[in-house]
Amino acid sequence: MVQLSRERLLRRGDAAYEQARRDAVWNERKPDRFPDVIVLADNERDVVAAVRLARSEGLSLGIRSGGHSWVGNGVRDGGMLLDLSRLQDITVDPKARTAAVQPAAKGPELLARLAPHGLFFPTGHAPTVGIGGFVLGGGYGWNSRRLGPACLSVEAIDVVLADGTLVHATDDTHPDLLWAARGSGPGFFGVVTRFHLAAHDRPRRVLRTVHSYPLDLRDDVLTWSYDLLEDLSPAVEFSAKVGFSPWLDRQTVTVTATAFCETDDDLLAPLEDAPFRDRAIRAVVAQETGMAELYDYADRMTPPGRRWALDGIWTDEPVEKILDAARPLFDSIPDTTSHVLWMLWGGHPESANACWSSQAKVYLSPNAGWTDPTEDLAHERWAHGRLAELQHLSKGLQFSDNNLADRFDHGLSPANSARLEQIRALYDPEGLFRTYMTPQESTTAYAAAGHTRTQ
Ligand SMILES: Cc1cc2nc3c(=O)[nH]c(=O)nc-3n(C[C@H](O)[C@H](O)[C@H](O)COP(=O)(O)OP(=O)(O)OC[C@H]3O[C@@H](n4cnc5c(N)ncnc54)[C@H](O)[C@@H]3O)c2cc1C
Repeated sequence: MVQLSRERLLRRGDAAYEQARRDAVWNERKPDRFPDVIVLADNERDVVAAVRLARSEGLSLGIRSGGHSWVGNGVRDGGMLLDLSRLQDITVDPKARTAAVQPAAKGPELLARLAPHGLFFPTGHAPTVGIGGFVLGGGYGWNSRRLGPACLSVEAIDVVLADGTLVHATDDTHPDLLWAARGSGPGFFGVVTRFHLAAHDRPRRVLRTVHSYPLDLRDDVLTWSYDLLEDLSPAVEFSAKVGFSPWLDRQTVTVTATAFCETDDDLLAPLEDAPFRDRAIRAVVAQETGMAELYDYADRMTPPGRRWALDGIWTDEPVEKILDAARPLFDSIPDTTSHVLWMLWGGHPESANACWSSQAKVYLSPNAGWTDPTEDLAHERWAHGRLAELQHLSKGLQFSDNNLADRFDHGLSPANSARLEQIRALYDPEGLFRTYMTPQESTTAYAAAGHTRTQ
């Protein structure tokens, strides 16, 4: 059996332990949870050794790839934290139009490797998100309205199972395992060491329209956008941000539409027909852009170095009902970093070979960002508490923004949840892998103040 060296195996109390624990979470709001052991894997052999060690020492296993879980899902109390952040290899097979990608690889690197071959992948919007958690959790990436959530482009995985074996799993060899890997997010029961992804055609060009409107038009803009979805090509991604605009130095509602164009059709034209278009304070119209610029823009929405609390609901309810119920959320945005994201998705068809299932027309997501730890509770109350008031409208949450411990919501349909647990019982009968977080595990100020999840 491969031995893990002292540098790669850190026990609580070791000098390098605390830095490794904190580094495992991108969010500045680090959880007060302490694994007994942290393994920094260099390669697949280390992953196998770590899983076998966890089994032999009776340690349950949490996983970190890119570290972008907002709640630091991989960092749990006790047990082992398996840190895969060094596994970043990417191999492209242009003929097969596939990429074999290790879990801590990032979107920009993957796109850079695909681009020379005219290929593309719906990577996450922020440049630093790891492929691992992103793909497993569904993966709502660039051009995902047309290309589907990233998990539906998974063709196979290399995965270390609870028994310590490394297998190459495909729909033919392990259909249940692949079904679970496509969308179970932080509930997956294995360590994926490589994703074999189907690549897509690279769009011929990318255009972007941005309109910023005064805040008094908020309801008009969101209502208009809700109806606009019917007229928008799926190759157009649309979101509205309600919050402070650093360019305009005031609160605005800013709509952004990004078109991933295959033809010369003017996919963004419908935005110019907005009935209040002449009231835009700032407008960028169908400007040619590139992925580097898009990543930069996304990175500035939720910059690193802050404490973040995110939450979200999918909803298909009539727009008047959503806006009415969401008024307290919109009206109490706590500062100039925090904002509410209104994403028009529109519903991609579910797939029989994926457990991914929860989505709707609109994704409504409060993003709270701050720096002072004494303000944790106020911001978490806004993100989770205000959203809990909209629970009756929710069709579920995105595992991307999951915070099940602080506000429970369904990330999968009831039928898929039940099937997932049956498959878990086959692959991980002793519960080696940590699954979805529970309220008892939450270390947020919100949990400490006694808030419990709604179900
Ligand atoms: C700034 C920012 C922007 C984001 N933008 C988007 C976006 O545009 N679209 C979107 O869909 N999501 C987005 N997310 C959410 C992100 O996709 C999820 O948080 C995702 O889990 C991050 O993946 P990770 O590997 O970086 O995270 P990690 O914290 O490393 O992983 C989260 C969990 O996923 C599971 N996991 C990860 N890797 C593996 C593996 N190799 N094997 C088994 N289980 C694994 C584990 O349960 C792990 O604890 C964003 C997050 C941030 C912080």
